[in-house]
Amino acid sequence: MSWMMKVRKYNIWTIGCQMNEADSRHLGSQLEALGYAMTEKADDADLVVLNTCVVRQQAEDRAIGRLQFAKELKMRNPELTIGLMGCMVGMREAPRLKKQFPFVDVFMPPSDPGPLMDFLREQQDGTEEDDARIEEIRSKNIQNAIQDEEYILPALQRSNTVQANVPIVLGCSHACTFCVIPYRRGPERSRPAADILAEVRKLVAQGVREVMLLGQIVDRYGTDFEEDYGLAELLKDVAAIPGILRVRYLTGHPNYMTDKIIEVTRDEPKVMPHFELPVQAGNDKVLEDMKRGYTCDDFRALIERVRRICPDNTINTDVIVGFPGETDEEFQGSYDLLKELELDKVHLAKYSERPKTIAARKMEDDVSDEEKERRRLLIDELVDDILARKNKQWMGQEVEVLVESRHKGKWRGRTPHNRLVFFESDENMRGALVDIKIDFTSPYSMRGDLVRVKVPAIPQTPDLSTIPMFHRPLKDSLNMV
Ligand code: SF4
Repeated sequence: MSWMMKVRKYNIWTIGCQMNEADSRHLGSQLEALGYAMTEKADDADLVVLNTCVVRQQAEDRAIGRLQFAKELKMRNPELTIGLMGCMVGMREAPRLKKQFPFVDVFMPPSDPGPLMDFLREQQDGTEEDDARIEEIRSKNIQNAIQDEEYILPALQRSNTVQANVPIVLGCSHACTFCVIPYRRGPERSRPAADILAEVRKLVAQGVREVMLLGQIVDRYGTDFEEDYGLAELLKDVAAIPGILRVRYLTGHPNYMTDKIIEVTRDEPKVMPHFELPVQAGNDKVLEDMKRGYTCDDFRALIERVRRICPDNTINTDVIVGFPGETDEEFQGSYDLLKELELDKVHLAKYSERPKTIAARKMEDDVSDEEKERRRLLIDELVDDILARKNKQWMGQEVEVLVESRHKGKWRGRTPHNRLVFFESDENMRGALVDIKIDFTSPYSMRGDLVRVKVPAIPQTPDLSTIPMFHRPLKDSLNMV
């Protein structure tokens, strides 16, 4: 009997960004094409993969902690295969990591399960037919897209996944001084539109109703193509796929957000009016030290342009506090800019030195952790006030919600503006498009009553109970930060 005929189990532990979640989904479907079955318990698996993140020290520490757990599993079961994937491995860290973690069998760069496919072929006593199957799957890494309809989603996610992340730009060539991504995910390259559209069609055929198009700088999509085809054109093409209800994209870079993209976001009903535009700092010297390539006034002008072209919008941003050398006054610039612009959500991070980055090599991490925390809390408080006020505007109004999952006895989903809404219903609502009348608001979520169902739920499957929420679709197996 071919080894692929035996039921072998895999477990994927994922930490980090949506890109990693998408990579884990692709890997899970490829393993299932090889005959593996997903298990939620790592100690029950024949193959354990850790898909890692090193963007912040905390994420790296968690990955190292999980590696120790994997080591203990291997001591109990020497047959266990352990794979390490993602930004910890990067494009060239495997030899160093092999010395540090000798119990790891195989190292995979982000978005590239190829080394695992090679390893499985070498390890398993398979037939020529098995080798051919592995070779076929190996050639279909994310950059080439998966062509076989049956394994675009891992089995447990089929008919249960409302929203899926779809990478469209891999890597980044921008080299902001604080960021490790270009060193770990390689230079920027856009996926061919035909591959992306094929992937979205297959996701929709398997129940997905919303896709999030991902890129480190998503608005640069297509700038490496010869033809004039960019994010605006791709958004229109994705929105035209029958069955898709919503399309989103992240993360933009302020320098590349064109009028054309903003206009498509305004005019195409299936493209949600939600922008992610990281400012990172509200002081020109800090922005220069970060090598972001714009000034505070440039960012102000961008927000004005987005609001003018697409008045019905929400705009989220990212801010780092405690960047090397950031004085009190420079921090005050970030605080004042956020107060002035009243954006809709701020992803806040305390600066964390990342090896090999320009900031780590050339700048001193001289803001104490206590001071970073003080600055973080100040902005947190400011944003809470802004959000509380903004969300109150929805009181008594009907909002359209795409229902993603059930949480603590309530259904939860998001409005077109990406506001989180909870409501109650005894019916299956997963994937339904509903109108909710809002009767409670807080800074981070709203609650209301079901008014009408506009698009019915995805028919319930027996596996529903194992999938409590979208971002943790396989519970322990896809364990996001
Ligand atoms: S744009 Fe800057 S912060 Fe974003 S991934 Fe690229 S280097 Fe990192």
